[in-house]
Amino acid sequence: MSDTSNNWFWSQAGTTLGPVDIDEIRRLIAAGSIDRKTWVFDPAQGAWAAAEMVPGLVFPAVPPTAPPDAPQSVVYCRFCGASNAPTAPRCVSCARDITMPTSGTTLEPRTGAIICRACVLALPFINIFAVIGPLLVLVLGGKDARNSAEAKAAFNCMLVSLLVCIFAGFVAVFGLLCLVGPIVAGLIGAALAVYLVVAGIMGLLAAADDKPFEYPLIPRIIR
Ligand SMILES: [Zn+2]
Repeated sequence: MSDTSNNWFWSQAGTTLGPVDIDEIRRLIAAGSIDRKTWVFDPAQGAWAAAEMVPGLVFPAVPPTAPPDAPQSVVYCRFCGASNAPTAPRCVSCARDITMPTSGTTLEPRTGAIICRACVLALPFINIFAVIGPLLVLVLGGKDARNSAEAKAAFNCMLVSLLVCIFAGFVAVFGLLCLVGPIVAGLIGAALAVYLVVAGIMGLLAAADDKPFEYPLIPRIIR
């Protein structure tokens, strides 16, 4: 039996608070100030007891954890609204990147992608200076796996370009004997320049749409 008198007390970190009536105790329970383990002085018992042990005090039911057949929590794509598993890096519907930048990263992954792909496009025109772009992305945003992957992809593209240029140089030198060497070397260089511009533009268009992109034909030398 609960006591309706005005002599209820409760303990807040060892300090006795009260006296109040049982309605105030119930109000404090509803407000969360008194929980199941809070010491409460029940005047009917004349003793302190954990609130959950005091007759007449009812605590809100704690919902159990989700049942095993509950649907998994979902993350909604911020572009198309499709529901995705929380761990999905890309939207199952539109393939856009739905993960948020890793905290502590100063560079948004999409910006990193644009810088890297623009530098690949610019490689035939600015040569070695194009390395600065992916290098910056790596330094500023390398904490985010997408930034570092993007920078590495650009480095691989530039490395392959360098190898192709060296090969073209050999062709020019050794092919001189039969005169077609410089012509073949020039064609290789032109093809490389076209490839870089086209791949760069394709990459930028993909970045504008926030879609994944891989440079065609480029092996992952740097992983
Ligand atoms: Zn989507």
